Amino acid sequence: MMECPNCLFRLKSVLLSVTRGLHGLEVSPRRWLNLQEYQSKKLMQDNGVTVQRFFVADSASEALEAAKRLKAKEIVLKAQILAGGRGKGVFDSGLKGGVHLTKDFDVQVHLNKLECRGKVSLTTKQTPKEGVKVKMVMVAEALDISRETYFAILMDRSCNGPVMVGSPQGGVDIEEVASTTPELIFKEVIDIFEGVRDDQALRMAANLGFKGPLERQAADQIKRLYDLFLKVDATQVEVNPLGETPEGQVVCFDAKINFDDNAEFRQKAVFAMDDTAESDPLETEAAKYDLKYIGLDGNIACFVNGAGLAMATCDIIDLHGGKPANFLDLGGGVKENQVYAAFKLLTADPKVEAILVNIFGGIVNCAIIANGITKACRELELKVPLVVRLEGTNVQEAKRILSESGLPITSATDLDDAAKKAVAAIPKK
Ligand code: GDP
Ligand code: MN
Repeated sequence: MMECPNCLFRLKSVLLSVTRGLHGLEVSPRRWLNLQEYQSKKLMQDNGVTVQRFFVADSASEALEAAKRLKAKEIVLKAQILAGGRGKGVFDSGLKGGVHLTKDFDVQVHLNKLECRGKVSLTTKQTPKEGVKVKMVMVAEALDISRETYFAILMDRSCNGPVMVGSPQGGVDIEEVASTTPELIFKEVIDIFEGVRDDQALRMAANLGFKGPLERQAADQIKRLYDLFLKVDATQVEVNPLGETPEGQVVCFDAKINFDDNAEFRQKAVFAMDDTAESDPLETEAAKYDLKYIGLDGNIACFVNGAGLAMATCDIIDLHGGKPANFLDLGGGVKENQVYAAFKLLTADPKVEAILVNIFGGIVNCAIIANGITKACRELELKVPLVVRLEGTNVQEAKRILSESGLPITSATDLDDAAKKAVAAIPKK
């Protein structure tokens, strides 16, 4: 898969490769609602999961106040951004590390450097090159960690339900562990009707390397995390590291929860926490029409259905020497007005020099797409070349609509042909 600087796309590809690495586990690559660590930890706390005491702050003075209130012998400052790898990240100021442990006396020094409200950006392996603006820091009571493990629960397609994945090798890149030492990745398939059984939770705890009384404590945390997973309609709950302290406590030191979009109607409180400020405004606009938009760096706009097809389209454009400007994923039950909104969004990006429509109509009716396209072309007075490849349900009717429209639309027979034509359609500079 190609490397792509875009954060969302990287997250998607990372997620795909992680789950592929984990013994062929597969999970839906979609990632829409994403909460900050402090929000996820609040949910955990409310469900009896052990997390450190913490506050959030957006300025040095507020953070200092929080640090005092914590009355801890050491505190940890954590930049809140919607991406992992913060520990090894770098601020645009040159300061290394989005996670800082500090004793009282030098709190102020760290805080001055970390003053946020979007004034500093943090770049990690999972962010775009220019980084993500940090608006808030978590100020938490630092605890000593004697061992870091990895634990996650994910909705897994190949198992038709939730799966627990864990490794005694935590705190680090789990992809790395999965590829170099796959024997250190443990998996427990959960029966959705039965829930996590005691023997499963204990076995996972033992596999994670928790010993003696810690084994039972870890098993209890695992069960509570599963209760949370169900309660909030999560598709993934990831704790890296799930650590143990020298005092004998099992603690979730980091938290990442992804949610099922389809549950929005019954998870109003969770979705209300959605922080769209970090998203591309076009992504937010697209979401209003139930469309998924991902901005990229190139000049070919891609209009596709399904994340898999989006990635295949990206790869084939790349193969033919082009670069995608963005993706717009139409999803399933599409309506004509969505197609119109989609075109409006795609062409709002000044980088776009050609549009490639690549729709495989399974659930989607190609004729609806064709009608939407012709309407959009006329009303938006489309200025850039448009290449269309439609396949599947009602495709003959769709082709007739396009060819009888009298519009300058280039038809393509398959994905390869479409990509070639889109690349060729870009004016030579
Ligand atoms: P990430 O880098 O974005 O995944 O952020 P994490 O929250 O996982 O923090 C990165 C690393 O910082 C962890 O793997 C720990 O090694 C370390 N860390 C985080 N919080 C604490 C803490 O309270 N005490 C200690 N000793 N280390 C911590
Ligand atoms: Mn982490």
